[in-house]
Amino acid sequence: MQLNMILLGPPGAGKGTQASHLQRLWRIPHISTGAMLRTAVREGTPLGKQAEAIMASGGLLNDELITALVEERLRHDDAHAGFLLDGFPRTIAQAESLDRYMSGRALVIVELALSDENVVKRLASRMVCHNCGTNRQDEGVYPTCHDCGGPLVPREDDKEQVVRNRLEVYRTQTAPLIDYYQGRPTFCRVDGAQLFDNVREDMVRAVKKALTLCSD
Ligand code: AMP
Repeated sequence: MQLNMILLGPPGAGKGTQASHLQRLWRIPHISTGAMLRTAVREGTPLGKQAEAIMASGGLLNDELITALVEERLRHDDAHAGFLLDGFPRTIAQAESLDRYMSGRALVIVELALSDENVVKRLASRMVCHNCGTNRQDEGVYPTCHDCGGPLVPREDDKEQVVRNRLEVYRTQTAPLIDYYQGRPTFCRVDGAQLFDNVREDMVRAVKKALTLCSD
């Protein structure tokens, strides 16, 4: 059964980490809008130049721009047999655009839930690889990336004031998506405060169950 999935949840809930696991398990691309934008900023592309200040403040890029970026990515061959979206949709308008794009094809929606208190704690120790942009928890003495060996640095938008703004943006713009999707049989919630392995097990179980309810 094809898995077309959205991973919802506040910043720092562990979406990226869990997505890497699910991507390997289902052999589908992990499409992270935040990672795409960070690459664009690093490479200094026109999109990156447009995104840089907005990302640094914790705000959101406009819906049309981000929706066009995601739809273009979903048209790539590797996304035809399924995909995992992380960081999109983030507003009701983006969710409506995605529904139009999917035109009736089933979506599995998983909310990775985490309290504000835990979000702040997690983000305080989060690092990002300066070379490849992968998110990591601070692992202490030799902070280098497991994938490419690059140096780990704190993420610009994980500074306390920006985190507060991102949480506010999440509350006002993204959390309403939970109501938007909640009535669908393929919506499920996983407790993101558990140990990593338990979150992973719950997540895989929830996705398998949701897939049995997908009709296509
Ligand atoms: P993330 O890595 O998902 O936390 O995203 C980092 C930043 O990229 C966000 O704080 C936004 O500024 C921007 N961004 C990522 N995804 C979206 C989206 N779907 N809509 C608007 N802005 C986004």
